[in-house]
Amino acid sequence: MKKWVYTFGNGAAEGRAGDVAILGGKGAHLAEMASLGLPVPPGFTIISEVCGRYHQGGRQLPNDLKLQVSSGIAGMEVMTGRKFGAGPRPLLISIRSGARASMPGMMDTVLNLGLNDETVQALCEDSGDARFAWDSYRRFIQMYADVVMGLDHEVFEEILEDEKGRLGHEYDTELSADEWQHVVSRYKQLVEDELDEPFPQDTEVQLWGAIGAVFSSWMNTRAVTYRHLHNIPGDWGTAVNVQAMVFGNLGSTSATGVAFTRNPSTGEKELYGEFLVNAQGEDVVAGIRTPQSITEAARLASGSDKPSMEKLMPEAFQEFLAICKQLETHYRDMQDMEFTIERGQLWMLQTRCGKRTTRAAMKIAVDMVEEGLITADEAVCRIDPSSLDQLLHPTIDSSIERPIIGSGLPASPGAASGEIVFSAEEAVAAKAEGRRVILVRMETSPEDIHGMHAAEGILTTRGGMTSHAAVVARGMGIPCVTGAGSMRVDLRNGVLIGIGCMLRKGDVITIDGSSGRVLRGEVPMTQPELSGDFGKLMEWADGARRMTVRTNADTPADARAARAFGAEGIGLCRTEHMFFEGERIHVMREMILAEDEAGRRSALDQLLPMQREDFTELFSIMHGMPVTIRLLDPPLHEFLPKTDGEIVEVAAAMGMPQTLFRQRLDALHEFNPMLGHRGCRLAISYPEIAEMQARAIFEAAVEAARRTGAPVVPEIMVPLVSLRSELDYVRGVIDRVAAEVAAETGMTLEYLTGTMIELPRAALRAHVIAEAAEFFSFGTNDLTQTTFGISRDDAARFMNTYQRKGIIERDPFVSLDFDGVGELIRIAAERGRQTRSELKLGICGEHGGDPTSIDFCENVGLDYVSCSPFRVPIARLAAAQATLSQAEKQPNTSPKKVVAL
Ligand code: PEP
Ligand code: MG
Repeated sequence: MKKWVYTFGNGAAEGRAGDVAILGGKGAHLAEMASLGLPVPPGFTIISEVCGRYHQGGRQLPNDLKLQVSSGIAGMEVMTGRKFGAGPRPLLISIRSGARASMPGMMDTVLNLGLNDETVQALCEDSGDARFAWDSYRRFIQMYADVVMGLDHEVFEEILEDEKGRLGHEYDTELSADEWQHVVSRYKQLVEDELDEPFPQDTEVQLWGAIGAVFSSWMNTRAVTYRHLHNIPGDWGTAVNVQAMVFGNLGSTSATGVAFTRNPSTGEKELYGEFLVNAQGEDVVAGIRTPQSITEAARLASGSDKPSMEKLMPEAFQEFLAICKQLETHYRDMQDMEFTIERGQLWMLQTRCGKRTTRAAMKIAVDMVEEGLITADEAVCRIDPSSLDQLLHPTIDSSIERPIIGSGLPASPGAASGEIVFSAEEAVAAKAEGRRVILVRMETSPEDIHGMHAAEGILTTRGGMTSHAAVVARGMGIPCVTGAGSMRVDLRNGVLIGIGCMLRKGDVITIDGSSGRVLRGEVPMTQPELSGDFGKLMEWADGARRMTVRTNADTPADARAARAFGAEGIGLCRTEHMFFEGERIHVMREMILAEDEAGRRSALDQLLPMQREDFTELFSIMHGMPVTIRLLDPPLHEFLPKTDGEIVEVAAAMGMPQTLFRQRLDALHEFNPMLGHRGCRLAISYPEIAEMQARAIFEAAVEAARRTGAPVVPEIMVPLVSLRSELDYVRGVIDRVAAEVAAETGMTLEYLTGTMIELPRAALRAHVIAEAAEFFSFGTNDLTQTTFGISRDDAARFMNTYQRKGIIERDPFVSLDFDGVGELIRIAAERGRQTRSELKLGICGEHGGDPTSIDFCENVGLDYVSCSPFRVPIARLAAAQATLSQAEKQPNTSPKKVVAL
């Protein structure tokens, strides 16, 4: 019989932390905590494989699951001394999702299951607290009816509000047992009225209803969106955790909370968390009541007058502190935990490696290396390279004085300005129009996920540091301020009321997620400095990686920025970008529209000094580092005027009759320019262009070496080659010009000539092409376009649909298609090196800055990756991780580097 159910409790468990793929994160770590002897309410996990079967099999569960679940429940009954579905000590259970990757709040949960008209009476007796028992029953009905029966919980809230109004109560806590009992009867009546069936009294029916609903929630829209955004495969499925309830709402000696072993925003080594007295777990995350600090230090820092857990429940606090230490040492990482205190007794409900800001991740990783908890290589592998983007977020320029219109909690760092919108839909619509918005809400819920993603920043007037908005924004790297209690959202009138102002939708505000401040209007920002922990980690990463990291840079500004980010050369200078500036475009047009070679040469003579100066500056900035310059690549029509107005203007400026001008434009027209007269084809038709560029490169190399004292070895790259004979031809021009410049200057010129591999034919004939090339650079933008036969300029129109419909998992223009395009790269690399073992191999398509593609490049043995300047740090880290992961796969061939501290 297949094992579907893994039990845990009383110091033992059938699963362990390593079983995340089978038991999901929550289940695996509950099992681990139970095995460690920590206080975990007993229960069992139904494995995630069942989820796949449930969805594929028309919502049928495996036949033998029933038996295993029954025996799991029986085990819980023994461990708790309670009975499911009967008194005198009824067992209440929770049913929770738990996928392999954390998907906070995206799927469903049912709490307090096992209550019915009989067991509620038993619970009154057993707990000695009738008010608690009836409150739990009404919570259960509300949650179960919502999650399992599809009745919106709002309709229940309306009844509750109505009752409170009638009874003159402001807070839920003021309702008596009898009043809750009355609410329960109204709730049950509502279910019957709305659904024509009574609320189920049979606890077995309740149990299977909830299990099915949690499995179903794997496919709800918000879970699907979240998976899409976080690249979580749909076939992982969720596990279901069934666990004995413990109650944080059993009076003033009970509480519930969430905590991190270190500060998830700053990384500071301090217990960090919030709790609520006399409450159930969902109350903290929902952000409806403002929680209290766990430690006294945090309470003092926040200026709160509500007592900390440390003061209020000192014994439970000390026990919790010890568990935090134990868990962090055990997992060797910062933990994010949920706990409940039931009448003074502490229970652990969850632990997982906590989500954190990038800044915190860096600090924690560096601190843990210094504490001897992890190695430097492990620290390097702990940082998600893409998340470095977060560090590049701007912050508010502190020298600028602006009125503060509100303040809240610094929930996710970075500053952002944008127009106010009040709903997720408005945020998405605005983003589609290219507008930048701040999503302003009382609080967010998982339904808002698409709007949060579309916004520049998020502001909520309620909720703590662990509220939905805070957790999700940190994960996304979006600035966020939560709990801005001094502000009020008036949705009815579409206004945000701040200190001394009333703002409407469309008004611009700035939020500072690092300080919690909200300011009016757009505020100047400053770029962050990359130092401290960042510098240390980068140093470790640089020590660990094999590939070098270059940048794609066409301007001196790009080149300087890239060097500041640690680029080790230029992997691609797209020379065409130099021809658009100022006067140059006119000369360029003159060259393109010239009637004959003599006309072209006279225009090229004007372009030569400009181009030479460009290259001299780039070579000087890179100070002897390798610089790859690509000869002119795009179709010539890209430089020509398009609209009637432009045509008239340019024809007049060139002194050409309009009809002749238009005739020449027509002659240059191409049906499919991306596959037309571009790349090396231009140099073959008009060798004088390549000649001018080669001369500019060589003369600049001589001049830059003279200026800086650092010898320059330019790498001249021929684009869009598919035949060796094409490369031979262009190479002939380059070599001839080199000889001329050498003779003119009396210098010996060192240079490399190579080609881009961006056409499938070039990849397949790499062994032949390598006879004429000293380096290959994979132009994976064009190689993806030509391998798929999908226009790179039009792909965005349908790639989303492809991804949504599961036709492809990742956009191949963003992340390399390993199976097709990758195979061509592998073939080209192997064949090229068969011909020329020292052939330099690099990548300069967009994929050169994408971490998963970089891992592939390491795998095929490229020498370098080249990416845009701001992605250089990402590429440095990703390249290090790639080297380390390869070394792990082949431990004997690549020993791990030991990095000295
Ligand atoms: C490429 O095709 O990958 C490339 C780098 O060249 P471009 O994007 O300029 O066509
Ligand atoms: Mg290209």
